[in-house]
Amino acid sequence: MTSPTTDTSVVVVGAGQAGLSVAYYLRRLGLDPGNDFVLLDRGPITGGAWQFRWESLRIGSAHRINDLPGMDALGLSFESADRTAPAKDVVADYYARYEDFYDFKVVRPADVTRVENWGTDLKVTFTLDGEEEKEVTTVTVVNATGTWGAPFIPWYPGLKSFEGRHLHTNEFRSAEEFRDKKVVVVGGGTSAIGFLLELENVASQLTWVSRRPIDFLEDGELNLEARREAVIAQDEAARAGRALPSIVSGTGVPRTRKIQAGIDRGVLVPKPMFSSIEPTGVRWDDGTFVEADAIIWSTGFRPALRHLAPLKLREKEGGVVVAQGASWKDPRVFFAGYGPQASTIGANRAGRLIARQVIATLSRLQIGVR
Ligand SMILES: Cc1cc2nc3c(=O)[nH]c(=O)nc-3n(C[C@H](O)[C@H](O)[C@H](O)COP(=O)(O)OP(=O)(O)OC[C@H]3O[C@@H](n4cnc5c(N)ncnc54)[C@H](O)[C@@H]3O)c2cc1C
Repeated sequence: MTSPTTDTSVVVVGAGQAGLSVAYYLRRLGLDPGNDFVLLDRGPITGGAWQFRWESLRIGSAHRINDLPGMDALGLSFESADRTAPAKDVVADYYARYEDFYDFKVVRPADVTRVENWGTDLKVTFTLDGEEEKEVTTVTVVNATGTWGAPFIPWYPGLKSFEGRHLHTNEFRSAEEFRDKKVVVVGGGTSAIGFLLELENVASQLTWVSRRPIDFLEDGELNLEARREAVIAQDEAARAGRALPSIVSGTGVPRTRKIQAGIDRGVLVPKPMFSSIEPTGVRWDDGTFVEADAIIWSTGFRPALRHLAPLKLREKEGGVVVAQGASWKDPRVFFAGYGPQASTIGANRAGRLIARQVIATLSRLQIGVR
């Protein structure tokens, strides 16, 4: 279904929840995996970002992992998965079976380094197995690269002078690495809270700081109204090409029984943000100083879009204009799992929406669809 000089009609970059969901609907709409569309993923195994999450994040402690579309045909559901099993293993396993079942032929590890405008085509360059550089030309690109590869650490004076260990959420593996260490955890979301609870009896000293007061939700459940508002705020920013706002600042943190107990014990009581970092710790404006061997930054992520830089989609406002999953500047480029779609349920919805738009774009460009 491509012109003789174009390798494929669609390249999907990223095989996490969003990329797999798009692949499912593209296949359902008649496109042949590995031929009409190609899935490239830089992860060594299946599971998207979940494969890299820390061992102690269990299915039961994740927010809620929605099933991929068509997963029921395999007799699988995250709902019935072992809640005590590490989320990273279960997701990697279920995705692997899903990819096999639908024969998606995901190419991995394939790290996409550039997407360029090649006249009527887009040219996607990637590194295969960490060494071989390859290219594929395509009519459309669906970017489904998530955020895990773009951790965000805010700048504070003295950041570079710190002599201890700096790490972001995406480098946390296990609390044991911090045994008998003095640890400062920065951030107001569930990752920061989860780390604090794990480190409570492991670290020799634990300090929690947050840039804003924590909005603990009284009912212990994620407030759906607040969640809707947060999604709308994400959508508005994406449509305006602004940098995306933090999700947790819009939704708040459910005050579960476990969290309430942590508050009562004094572990989950944050200090305001420090004002500077020194070689051996952090300092507040009033002169207070706390020693630290490690600072864990649970300060969120940004969309991983560096490989799209040659397309010059970024606006001066700092983001990319994306409406209903499609780029405003280049209608051949789609974004799955971006902004309002950045959850497993959002990624699923993105799949259907984007697959349909891809087919419509191919038809409009008169690339015959079978
Ligand atoms: C700590 C944490 C916990 C979360 N818990 C939940 C939860 O419980 N429920 C929920 O709904 N959501 C949760 N989320 C949000 C979650 O990340 C999304 O729901 C969903 O997993 C994202 O899917 P995705 O496909 O968009 O991204 P990812 O899962 O990140 O997949 C992106 C894929 O793209 C690949 N990739 C990236 N860059 C490139 C490149 N240049 N070339 C090739 N491949 C590339 C990556 O290797 C990866 O496989 C959580 C997020 C975090 C950070």
